Amino acid sequence: MEITEIRVRLMGRRNDKLRALCSATFDNSLAIHDLKVIDGAKGQFVAMPSRKLTDRCARCGGKNHLQARFCNDCGAGLPAERAPKDGRGRPRLHADVAHPIHAAYREALQARVLAAFHDELERSKLPGYRPAALGDEPEDFEEGDAAGSVTTAAVGAAGAAGAAGAAGIPGMSAMAARAPEPPRP
Ligand SMILES: [Zn+2]
Repeated sequence: MEITEIRVRLMGRRNDKLRALCSATFDNSLAIHDLKVIDGAKGQFVAMPSRKLTDRCARCGGKNHLQARFCNDCGAGLPAERAPKDGRGRPRLHADVAHPIHAAYREALQARVLAAFHDELERSKLPGYRPAALGDEPEDFEEGDAAGSVTTAAVGAAGAAGAAGAAGIPGMSAMAARAPEPPRP
């Protein structure tokens, strides 16, 4: 699958390890949000979108994150360190939402995202830089950081010229704004 667009939202230095959030579009058709550029011990890497794993409270059956110490629903104490361990004995707290099947594709995707990240980093040093909008901010994205609407509009307008086009990232809103197709005769 061809990677047809990557958008990068730099995180600055507010966060120790998270350097950027990214969206990638494949074949001008499918957008995947919430890829992360992370400073790792062995250099930067790209983490695929993931969700926190949960389990159920023994008392009420409510769902809680594996690191939660008390049930969100009933307040019961929850056992510590109940997350399953990975091959290296570390607790497994997240599961991928989307991920490449083959190592070669993972490496190609990571290389593209890191290249886009470094390009964005260079652009951010220029005067008048506006951060890109990703179209779908993750839940934990901090407010006051969504000043990228101008960039979105420009990219969206250019992309709308194509079929699904790069306008796909704003997704539903862009599609909804498009005029309905005329009825067939
Ligand atoms: Zn409970």
